[in-house]
Amino acid sequence: GGTVSTYVERLMAAVEAKNPGELEFHQAVREVATSIELLLEREPVYREAKILERMIEPERVLMFRVPWVDDHGEIHVNRGFRVEMSSAIGPYKGGLRFHPTVDLGLLKFLAFEQVLKNALTTLPMGGGKGGADFDPKGKSDAEVMRFCQSFMTELQRHIGPNTDVPAGDIGVGGREIGYLFGQYKRIKNEFTGVLTGKGLEWGGSLIRPEATGYGAVYFAHEMLLTREDSLEAKTCLVSGSGNVAQYTVEKLMDMGAKVVTLSDSEGFVLDPAGIDNEKLTWIMELKNERRGRISEYAERFPGVTFTPYDPTADANPLWSVPADCAFPSATQNEINAKDAANLLAGGVYVVSEGANMPTSPEGVEQFVQAGILYGPGKAANAGGVAVSGLEMAQDSLRMAWPREEVDARLKEIMKSIHKQCRQTAEEFGTPGNYVNGANIAGFVKVADAMLDQGLV
Ligand code: NDP
Repeated sequence: GGTVSTYVERLMAAVEAKNPGELEFHQAVREVATSIELLLEREPVYREAKILERMIEPERVLMFRVPWVDDHGEIHVNRGFRVEMSSAIGPYKGGLRFHPTVDLGLLKFLAFEQVLKNALTTLPMGGGKGGADFDPKGKSDAEVMRFCQSFMTELQRHIGPNTDVPAGDIGVGGREIGYLFGQYKRIKNEFTGVLTGKGLEWGGSLIRPEATGYGAVYFAHEMLLTREDSLEAKTCLVSGSGNVAQYTVEKLMDMGAKVVTLSDSEGFVLDPAGIDNEKLTWIMELKNERRGRISEYAERFPGVTFTPYDPTADANPLWSVPADCAFPSATQNEINAKDAANLLAGGVYVVSEGANMPTSPEGVEQFVQAGILYGPGKAANAGGVAVSGLEMAQDSLRMAWPREEVDARLKEIMKSIHKQCRQTAEEFGTPGNYVNGANIAGFVKVADAMLDQGLV
């Protein structure tokens, strides 16, 4: 008995008791549970079958030792993980993150988000996430290679092209995927599509590096279209300066928008004149080849300022820069309640999340209340995993599609995700609420597959 709200509170009490200290995981589950209240009222079967309770318990969690030797001969031990969350609609699929903050709770949040996100893509992919508390910053290529080889020496026994197909995420880009793939192939003696984000010459897909950033911009474009508006001449804030941020900037310039910020964990740069193609090429070389810091951008180009972050500050000054659109593309919870208020005060009315869960619950609440065009990460950044799905398809066919074809499919998929979110939000009485739309639409697809497949 009891109301659904009581049900959600009871569920959350159990989640918190059973998964102590996993704050991001609690946050992600609470958001979804709150959104699907509306659905559980209409369709009691999901509640009776304990679908959400089953969905938040990983099918399997792997945790393992990753020993490696640095260039000076010193031994290090890191902790590796793979969270295999759901295989209801396809093989486990989701990125690997190498960052010192990686722990089980962080990866469970990312894996849970991934399950619903992958369901929205229209492609047959389950959800997973993995990584290690390894910090690639300041490591030589040889050290990164030895780490990746040690990591894969254990991971290879758990993954496979029909079982679990990892990709990149923070700290895992083309270089790391190359080393991981090489070690997998060496141990298994088979050339298969076991990872996505591979090099073009060895099974990768065109547009995969671009996909998450491009997709977040396509999603913003779709949201603006509902108001007969466009990205043309809009001032945009982008955070981060890695893979997602770089291609978000590229596509925004393409669409006639002006990008005035980028950042990393040390601070942000403000370029009032806007980033152009020449500057972006320089940034890509800085970040991807020289592995430098974004502060160097301010030293290189006149009129640009770098503001270092103050760890004791209660807000990130990047989000106080007046603008029309924001594309948070760094990390989780990078927009707190104060930042959200600053964004709204600065004129931002489009937020399309390239990062996963970059906005705190209090921030999300403000965006939804304000009625702005707010695209949550699990919808807006699904372009990355969608093109990973296309990479898997091409690997299976032993074919490579041309750039135009993959880009056209990506656009179609982002359009479809936008439509699912919008229609579902409306169906459940919360028009324009992409959070409810994404959570309910993603949940229903996975839930129905789980009902069909029995209690497993
Ligand atoms: P990268 O490693 O390429 O870049 C990450 C960027 O974010 C860097 O500029 C980094 O700065 C910054 N950053 C990372 N952690 C923090 C932190 N704790 N505080 C402040 N800044 C931070 O990663 P991606 O671009 O691939 O990923 C960015 C976001 O997008 C993540 O949330 C990821 O989960 C999400 N995402 C990525 C996808 C992909 O295809 N790659 C797909 C879908 C979502 P610094 O160098 O100082 O650490």
